[in-house]
Amino acid sequence: METNETKTQETPAQVTSFADLGLSDVLLTALEKKGFEKPSPIQADIIPIILNDERDIVGQAQTGTGKTAAFGLPVLEKLDESSSAIQALVLTPTRELTLQVADELNGLRGMKQIKITPIYGGQSFERQKKQLQRPSGIIVGTPGRLIDHIKRGNIDLSELKFAVLDEADEMLTAGFVEDIEWILSKTNPERKTLLFSATMPAPIAKLAKEYMKESVTVSTKRETLTTSLTEQIYFEVRESDKLEALCRIIDVEDEFYGLIFCRTKRDVDAVAEKLIHRGYDVEAMHGDFS
Ligand code: AMP
Repeated sequence: METNETKTQETPAQVTSFADLGLSDVLLTALEKKGFEKPSPIQADIIPIILNDERDIVGQAQTGTGKTAAFGLPVLEKLDESSSAIQALVLTPTRELTLQVADELNGLRGMKQIKITPIYGGQSFERQKKQLQRPSGIIVGTPGRLIDHIKRGNIDLSELKFAVLDEADEMLTAGFVEDIEWILSKTNPERKTLLFSATMPAPIAKLAKEYMKESVTVSTKRETLTTSLTEQIYFEVRESDKLEALCRIIDVEDEFYGLIFCRTKRDVDAVAEKLIHRGYDVEAMHGDFS
């Protein structure tokens, strides 16, 4: 039977604590260490549903809403430390997101002994194969490389408890829908499926319908966590006026501390050098520094 229940969270959720949501001490300690004080709306909505084994979830949420912890915390809670099977799989559209999600999950697991393995194209296949020989709790990865490993028997998803599709609309744009379907067909049919997407284009809605049993849709329309504490301003300036404008912005503040992001390493060196030349206390940082 299919249930199309929709919970829409437009106003800030009631203030609850992570402890009220039913997480155990080991994860609460990890959250304290990470400095998360209270759950974001999507976390308050989703964590209890997953902890209570209720249903599959379609989460309409953008990056910045705390969606990674919304699925990561309850999934970590439900996994068995003594099992050597792959118990959860998180599919992401890019190598960057794979690493970001794996990092976040590593921070959230605290002392819970669950191995988190990122798998993506561009990294040595043999090295990944070796990593996969040891017991593994959660695999985070991009579809193409995961398929290679599944085909060669390096990944067994028959005991999977959770399949998470992160940024499903981005995976659609990247042309991964058939790959996702193939991967899902190799997983334990009893698994729970959690799908997250900022938008719901028709092929994603269809995917959700076909691969999810009784699902609940949770959407968060609130401002994202990352922007709520930051005022964002932009100035339109000519390329030739950029340095002058930057210096004025710095000078306006009594004590200016800041990060300046550039597109290339060469830009980083050039901007830092020009600012240092003008007497500002600046350090450059990019991948070529030890
Ligand atoms: P995400 O939407 O999962 O990409 O998360 C955005 C950022 O918010 C990440 O840097 C998280 O570490 C952070 N974050 C997630 N949940 C919370 C929370 N409850 N309190 C504070 N920060 C959070």
